[in-house]
Amino acid sequence: SAKSRGRSGLCFYNRLLNSAAVERLRLEAALRRALERGEIDVHFQPKVDRAGRPLSFEALVRWHSPEFGAISPAVFIPIAEDTGQIEPITEFVLARACRLACTWPHELAVAVNLSPRLFYSGELCRRVERALATSGLAPHRLELELTEGILMEKNMKAVEQLQALKALGVRLAVDDFGTGYSSLAYLRRFPLDILKVDKSFVGNSTPDSSDAILVRAITSLGRELGLTVVAEGVETRAQWDFLRQAGCDEFQGYLFARPLPAEQTLEWLKQYPDSGYQAPHALPRAL
Ligand code: C2E
Ligand code: MG
Ligand code: MG
Ligand code: MG
Repeated sequence: SAKSRGRSGLCFYNRLLNSAAVERLRLEAALRRALERGEIDVHFQPKVDRAGRPLSFEALVRWHSPEFGAISPAVFIPIAEDTGQIEPITEFVLARACRLACTWPHELAVAVNLSPRLFYSGELCRRVERALATSGLAPHRLELELTEGILMEKNMKAVEQLQALKALGVRLAVDDFGTGYSSLAYLRRFPLDILKVDKSFVGNSTPDSSDAILVRAITSLGRELGLTVVAEGVETRAQWDFLRQAGCDEFQGYLFARPLPAEQTLEWLKQYPDSGYQAPHALPRAL
């Protein structure tokens, strides 16, 4: 009867909900212990110039849980944001990234992703400053990647924090550009240096697709504004050729390298005895 169907349907639905909620709680609990148990690691993916020479690496956090296996940061970062774990995790990634970058030749830079949630406490700037001081990394060699979300906030606190970060001498990047809100006003309002075109546009950008039109438009907009334009998710030679023609400055993707364990970065760099790194990235020495 309809009644029993309804009841069993509801029951099934509840069970699904419950198992999702329980799963989430188990993940939260595991994540809370992941750092101290040494389950969190950082991989590094190179960015290259128009000639294919390395310029920098992006730090990408990894979690390998004995209970759940490898979990994507796309899954656990949002959980870490909700539970507050994002703060110690970011501190860990920042410290690892700065320390490793000090071992690279040619003053290569390192990029660290910052989640919007970090802008709600006033600690961010102090944390970045501490990571720089502890490692001895020159500030111009650190890039901080922000998502559009934080830039949309009509939140003066966020603007102030970005200006304070900028005053440390680090470079600021907008990540995944084009996937958030489409207002462009903040590109001028915020002290940005780098614009990363989201890989969802790059992936389908055969020369006459609509994504190609978007990539060209985003790239010229970025360049007009004096920003360094980075294309992420470059997987094929054809994509790289197109993106270079579109005017992108830097490139990141499986075509050049997958994200590498820290120990493999120096080995990978040996293929490039001279890097594309150029002093113009450096800021004038602080007064
Ligand atoms: P993202 O910052 O946009 O990083 C680029 C993502 O694209 C990485 O995924 C990278 O592994 C992947 N990728 C690189 N090249 C290619 C390619 O050629 N093709 C394709 N299909 N994908 C490519 P990953 O490592 O899974 O990270 C996902 C996202 O998680 C990152 O996106 C970033 O938003 C976030 N994330 C990673 N590490 C951190 C972190 O330390 N802190 C914060 N707050 N977020 C992080
Ligand atoms: Mg990023
Ligand atoms: Mg990105
Ligand atoms: Mg992305």
